[in-house]
Amino acid sequence: MNYLSTRGHPDRKRFCEILLEGLAPDGGLYLPEQYPQVDTATLAKWRKLSYAELAFEILSLYIDDIPPADLKAICAKTYTAEVFGTDEIVPLRELEDGVYLEALSNGPTLAFKDMAMQLLGNLFEYELARRGAELNILGATSGDTGSAAEYAMRGKKGVRVFMTSPDGRMSPFQQAQMFSLQDANIHNIAITGVFDDCQDIVKAVSNDLAFKRKYRIGTVNSINWARLLAQVVYYFAGYFQATSGNDKPVSFTVPSGNFGNVCAGHVARMMGLPIQTLVVATNENDVLDEFFRTGVYRVRGAVDTHETSSPSMDISKASNFERFVFDLVGRDPARLRKLFVDDLGLNGSFDLSADPAFAQAAARFGFRSGRSTHADRLATIRDTDKRFATLVDPHTADGLKAAREQLSPGVPMVVLETALPIKFAATLVEALGEEPARPKKFEGIEALPKRVVKLPADAEAVKAYIAEHCD
Ligand SMILES: *Cc1c(COP(=O)(O)O)cnc(C)c1O
Repeated sequence: MNYLSTRGHPDRKRFCEILLEGLAPDGGLYLPEQYPQVDTATLAKWRKLSYAELAFEILSLYIDDIPPADLKAICAKTYTAEVFGTDEIVPLRELEDGVYLEALSNGPTLAFKDMAMQLLGNLFEYELARRGAELNILGATSGDTGSAAEYAMRGKKGVRVFMTSPDGRMSPFQQAQMFSLQDANIHNIAITGVFDDCQDIVKAVSNDLAFKRKYRIGTVNSINWARLLAQVVYYFAGYFQATSGNDKPVSFTVPSGNFGNVCAGHVARMMGLPIQTLVVATNENDVLDEFFRTGVYRVRGAVDTHETSSPSMDISKASNFERFVFDLVGRDPARLRKLFVDDLGLNGSFDLSADPAFAQAAARFGFRSGRSTHADRLATIRDTDKRFATLVDPHTADGLKAAREQLSPGVPMVVLETALPIKFAATLVEALGEEPARPKKFEGIEALPKRVVKLPADAEAVKAYIAEHCD
């Protein structure tokens, strides 16, 4: 399997070459040259597999530069009941007639990002050992990504993590999750500033090419193809749990921010998994809902990007969206460049409303969308608690609301549960008047010793810290 760039760079790369990379050299995103096709007989075989075995089968179609026995061992080591809490790894339960919740957030940090990041940690360790290389991961987080990366990379050989976060702005639970890690290779850096300051620092450090090379700086952001690929697996696992045979379609609703999660659903559908509809659920930051309703993709500025009660979906632009649009415009890199380089660069938006391609987003690719507000989230959390004695987190609540607007008789609707309620306790308290129960292993974490340094919002200070803490 070879990988190409959405923007038309002539080079073709293999999986392990793009594993440790971010963007392609021309600024595009990597995609496989074609989507491997899965037929009904294969689905029937896969239905009986454990999650780790299923992951191995799917990853094998995309990875041909890791020996199969090694890849199998990596999958077996990643997807265990010890790490993810159950043998099913992503257990499905029926909430009401035809509406299901697929639990993706029983990993170490209680959000779905663990599903991919845990695999990435093991792939990184394997590939770095093979190359005799080291990597220093520099990131910016307002919560879920940073903690998932740290729990995936802690104690891994060849990897260090330098994670910046805005000082005092994460929830106490999120801070405790990250700062209580005592592993020598994990560095928490609290920046005096806001999340944008952290992102600017990461950009400034990455743009210093000499520094980047000398200190082998890498990232683990959501455009990484390996992360997306890992997420394809739970669409298959959800499908198998929601059906008893392989001829019936299923729909999925996905609480969305950077379009990574739902893009994995798109890939699963392109492979031939019988998915009828992919519902993109957004909050007040509705860049994606607007596109699927109108055909206009309009990136938001800082003032139009809202801080909401489903904060992991607070985005101004959706960094993985270019992958889907590439397929939508028939994989034509010249058209893609016109939209993402010329139009977005010039106007901050592009308009496909009059283009026949836009109609295909729904007709051929199955996309629908929905949007919710803070009031909707509270109402959904209350309603789900009252009618089904089930607590959902604010992101999953956004999903449930959008899902109910897109139900189709006889087609199971699977809503992806992207975080556990305890991570966003303040909103649960606002909705229900009480704190959600906390998993045992997180009892009292706020009182644990914290390992964090405070630095000013200054890229030079962060560079000096990194230099001092590499070997
Ligand atoms: C990251 C995240 C999302 C958004 O996922 P994308 O892949 O960026 O679309 C939704 N919910 C939670 C809880 C998250 O952490």
